[in-house]
Amino acid sequence: MHRSEITIDLGAIRHNARRLLEVLDGAELWAVVKANGYGHGVGDVAHAALGAGATALCVATVDEGLELRQREPDARILIMGPPSEPREIAAAREARLELVVSGGEIPGDVPVHLKLDTGMGRWGLAELPKPPANVVGLMSHLATSDCDPAFARQQVERFREATEEYSHLTRHIANSAAALRLPDARFDAARCGIALYGISPFDADPAEDDLRPALSWRSRLAQVRLLEPGESTGYGRQFVAEEQTWIGIVPVGYEDGFRRDMSGTEILVDGERRRTIGTVSMDAVAVELDRELPVGTLVTVIGDGVRIEQHAKVADTIGYEIACGINAGSVRARRIVRD
Ligand SMILES: *Cc1c(COP(=O)(O)O)cnc(C)c1O
Repeated sequence: MHRSEITIDLGAIRHNARRLLEVLDGAELWAVVKANGYGHGVGDVAHAALGAGATALCVATVDEGLELRQREPDARILIMGPPSEPREIAAAREARLELVVSGGEIPGDVPVHLKLDTGMGRWGLAELPKPPANVVGLMSHLATSDCDPAFARQQVERFREATEEYSHLTRHIANSAAALRLPDARFDAARCGIALYGISPFDADPAEDDLRPALSWRSRLAQVRLLEPGESTGYGRQFVAEEQTWIGIVPVGYEDGFRRDMSGTEILVDGERRRTIGTVSMDAVAVELDRELPVGTLVTVIGDGVRIEQHAKVADTIGYEIACGINAGSVRARRIVRD
């Protein structure tokens, strides 16, 4: 048995894509698969999303786009980040990628989306020039769609005003949170990432938005031992037993994406919620048990009701970062794809 198994449920990806298409009410769904599909594995996720009705794929860099082009020869692929060198523009042209321009010269001979800064304060043009003929889309990015809808609405209105006269071009500003909660932001297409994976952009229960988590992560107890009062487990003796305590050692650690600041989060051992204890090490984490259990007992780190959002809360971060950190392509885990 591998140290751990990560299962990617493509049925969940397809369900989430269809769910997004339903709320988008006529706007196109563009699947955001940057960062190896938020750690889920870009090839499988991209293919499933396209199969369920997504009409384009979005990544951050030209290199990501070139790799994706090998797998999806016919898909529309949009590079959302700025190309860093002229070589990248030539490569993008060759591979039929679409570029986003948010400053400087607009390259010719390649489909371009002009990005307007409406309040993100990062990449984006302060004002929209008259679009040349190779511009196919106009876009912007929302800073607060998950937490401050009033500011997000202001951004949407700025975008609407600035792009009104070019409504023949594809206009897109929504991410997952806006697609789900901000109907005004839908325009012609929405660039959705996190919701596609069944992770809540609001760090809430994804079921509230009828989304299904696609990633589950299982392991087994590699060791079970009884700590006597005063004995400890792990680096720094962060957990010292006050009374006789059964503990299990789970062979996943921060290298695998079980972050050090997730210590204390609950996981399932033989289907029951148990608290992780002590310092998470590179290759292992300890879990408190209420009795002796056999080595090999099933442990669910994510899945069966244990959600990424719960671990994110313990680590004081967001589900996005937990998912990217697990990176299902790790050589240590066995990756299973369920179609
Ligand atoms: C990552 C990204 C998205 C997707 O955001 P989600 O919150 O994951 O839906 C959309 N647009 C841009 C420009 C991005 O960088």
